[in-house]
Amino acid sequence: MTETAMRVAFVTGASRGIGRAISTRLAMPVEKGGGGRHVVLVSRSAGPLEDLRSSIEAEGGSASVCACDVGDRAALAAAVEGVVKERGRLDILVNNAGITRDNLMLRMSDAEWDEVIGVNLTSAFVAIRASARAMMKQRFGRIVNIASTSGIVGNAGQANYAAAKAGLVGLTKTIARELGSKGVTANVVAPGFIETDMTSNLPPSVKEQVSSMTATSRLGKPEDIAAAVAYASSDDAGFLTGQVICVDGGMTMC
Ligand code: NDP
Repeated sequence: MTETAMRVAFVTGASRGIGRAISTRLAMPVEKGGGGRHVVLVSRSAGPLEDLRSSIEAEGGSASVCACDVGDRAALAAAVEGVVKERGRLDILVNNAGITRDNLMLRMSDAEWDEVIGVNLTSAFVAIRASARAMMKQRFGRIVNIASTSGIVGNAGQANYAAAKAGLVGLTKTIARELGSKGVTANVVAPGFIETDMTSNLPPSVKEQVSSMTATSRLGKPEDIAAAVAYASSDDAGFLTGQVICVDGGMTMC
């Protein structure tokens, strides 16, 4: 693929944590171990995305910034369609933006349920629907949805979050079946416990407990997830579709 036809990736939740690591990995030049993609960096505030764009460009990579609330369906669809229009293609979609609003099920409010389903699940559907035509026309597409082991084995206090993440699995498998013959793959990467802002408030005792539950005796790093996404979104992964890749240090082995 030539420089002018560089593959374009759209990564949500790019400002920090796992999304930042994914964006960096995909955008780094190939000679520096990256994917050599142009990455459209998406999250709500432009500031942190501009910082990331600068650091990617300083390493010789290519990125652009798109401030968008993925909970706003119209804005998200317009953002995806804008990328297709401006860049003439969209090759990789990584639905990574996610939030938690934890509560025991009996205490969970409608607002806590709706917000998590909207940001963590509905946004993925909206972005996939907005991307699919361009990917089918290209006869190439890589969709990677970031779920969670909570969506596979459940987690007390996370009815909304686990339902959204389990929903991503069903969505992904269906998309894989609908679009596979057009060269478009869809997979889930399901992280276990990864050290980011999302998990920073947990007490050290909980982190130690989780660490001891893994086969690797450690918590995950954002780069562990980025490595799996790099493969699932690569040209080489054309025969990998409808899969759930758990990256959890062997915690669940599911
Ligand atoms: P962080 O809380 O560190 O980062 C979340 C990212 O999502 C930020 O970039 C944030 O940007 C963005 N985001 C949140 N809400 C919106 C929104 N409405 N619109 C656009 N962007 C939004 O989370 P992690 O990096 O830890 O998690 C990334 C993904 O991995 C999530 O889907 C999460 O559920 C999943 N995951 C994480 C695990 C972990 O242990 N950390 C375990 C399993 C799954 P901003 O606030 O600037 O908009």
